[in-house]
Amino acid sequence: MRDGGFTYRRSQMVESLRRGGIRDEKVLSAMGEIPRHLFIGESWRARAYDDDVSINIGSGQTISQPRVVAVMSQSARIEPDHKVLEIGTGSGYQAAVLSRLARFVFSIERIAVLARGAKRCIDELGIENVSVKVMDGTMGWRAQGPFDAILVTAGGPEVPQPLLSQLADHGRLVVPVGPREQQVLKVIQRRGSRFVESQLQDVCFVPLVGRYGWEPSQ
Ligand code: SAM
Repeated sequence: MRDGGFTYRRSQMVESLRRGGIRDEKVLSAMGEIPRHLFIGESWRARAYDDDVSINIGSGQTISQPRVVAVMSQSARIEPDHKVLEIGTGSGYQAAVLSRLARFVFSIERIAVLARGAKRCIDELGIENVSVKVMDGTMGWRAQGPFDAILVTAGGPEVPQPLLSQLADHGRLVVPVGPREQQVLKVIQRRGSRFVESQLQDVCFVPLVGRYGWEPSQ
């Protein structure tokens, strides 16, 4: 176990995700490849491959549980030629997983120190198809749209309108919506001028802070 057992633990995590109902082999394989422990501070690394644990990454933020990353990635139905937008780069782990599924990944983080750390980690892994920008992600990234999939990894009181308008036809927006304490994970698919919504499960994300999210002080 030259890597401290992380490779073994990662394969155990993937098996646990599979047993828990994740069926998309591309998602399972991406999560089997990306070294999640490298996106986490040293003191928390022992728990990096627990599939239902979210971990503190500093600045009051967390890296989402592997189970939630898997559910969101699977629900976005990403194809290899897709362009994907992520709101809430955080540690960069979800963006790294998406980099294995999509052609291009654009990720927005509002906290500069997190964005810098995430980009460093992504670069050190030799991942070249992820761009990270510091701004309010509730506004989307209009210059790079439309997107085949948009994943929002922080919870807001409503679906940010700019994200709906930056969705490509048949594109999917995966977004937690609801009160600060608990949200519902929604999948919204664009079909022409219509948006068809389904609800996946209850989730608990850190707040989406921005023009179409919560006020910073709330
Ligand atoms: N996807 C991340 C990962 O893999 O580590 C986890 C994201 S963490 C649960 C949510 C992140 O969303 C935090 O880093 C937070 O700063 C960020 N965030 C909150 N509101 C935002 C906004 N309006 N625009 C961009 N990022 C935002």
